[in-house]
Amino acid sequence: MITVRTVADLRAALAERTGSVGLVPTMGALHDGHLSLVRAAHEENDTVVMSLFVNPTQFNDARDLAAYPRTEEADAALAAEAGVDILFAPDAAELYPGGFATSIRVEGTIAETLEGAHRGRAHFDGMATVVVKLLLAAAPDTAYFGAKDAQQVVVVRRVVADLGIPVRIAVCPTVREPDGLALSSRNVLLSPGDRARAAAIPAALRALEAAAAAGERDRGALREPALDVLAEQLIALEYLEIVDPDTLEVLPTVDRTALVVIAAKVGQTRLIDNITIA
Ligand code: AMP
Repeated sequence: MITVRTVADLRAALAERTGSVGLVPTMGALHDGHLSLVRAAHEENDTVVMSLFVNPTQFNDARDLAAYPRTEEADAALAAEAGVDILFAPDAAELYPGGFATSIRVEGTIAETLEGAHRGRAHFDGMATVVVKLLLAAAPDTAYFGAKDAQQVVVVRRVVADLGIPVRIAVCPTVREPDGLALSSRNVLLSPGDRARAAAIPAALRALEAAAAAGERDRGALREPALDVLAEQLIALEYLEIVDPDTLEVLPTVDRTALVVIAAKVGQTRLIDNITIA
């Protein structure tokens, strides 16, 4: 594995290789969720590029950006072991040089609700802008994303379709801890007590799923058992919604496959998760 820090060096490294390219965009602090994307990319491509960049423009809170874990040395070892060929780890000035003035603006429900409403609409504009820059820099055949960030996937698919970017978007399943907590770079920020309580997030999703499996179709009645699970562990809920998987519109009655999305704060740490219910 080689590490490159500029777009020019990334392109030069790719020019020396033949065959298909898979891109795995990450913000580092790698865990097995990220590595599952690398494994999928490695199986399907001749060259795997992983980007490692904590994108400042998608953070709405300076403290959150400052606290975001940064572990590049350990990340490089994990990436190499999992099958990354080229690690692209630019600094902020490489992607946002002086005078930078362009942003991808994503409009409508997909970008303005849920994460867009709670983190501010600049969140998805910042994410979309950096993803497009990464796609232009690596020109991959396929880019790999995790189902854990479901709204991100919807927004990325929209942007790729709208701008006509020639890339396939692959989505890999959410990797979880044994107690169900979705792996996240933010999990290391949880105190031991908060880490135990955080299991209520996937438990709430499972409670809602069980109610749906028992035949309940009403949004309010489906949310109730999930809200009970969260209240028991004093989890500060930001949202729990049942939405159409493509449009992200809220479904008052669940009469089709639906995405259940949740965001909650456990202590100081904000976590998100989701499941699909049939
Ligand atoms: P991040 O570094 O948090 O921006 O995540 C980089 C990529 O890894 C995104 O496509 C995430 O959706 C994906 N990812 C993060 N956590 C998980 C997980 N637990 N399972 C699968 N993919 C994940």
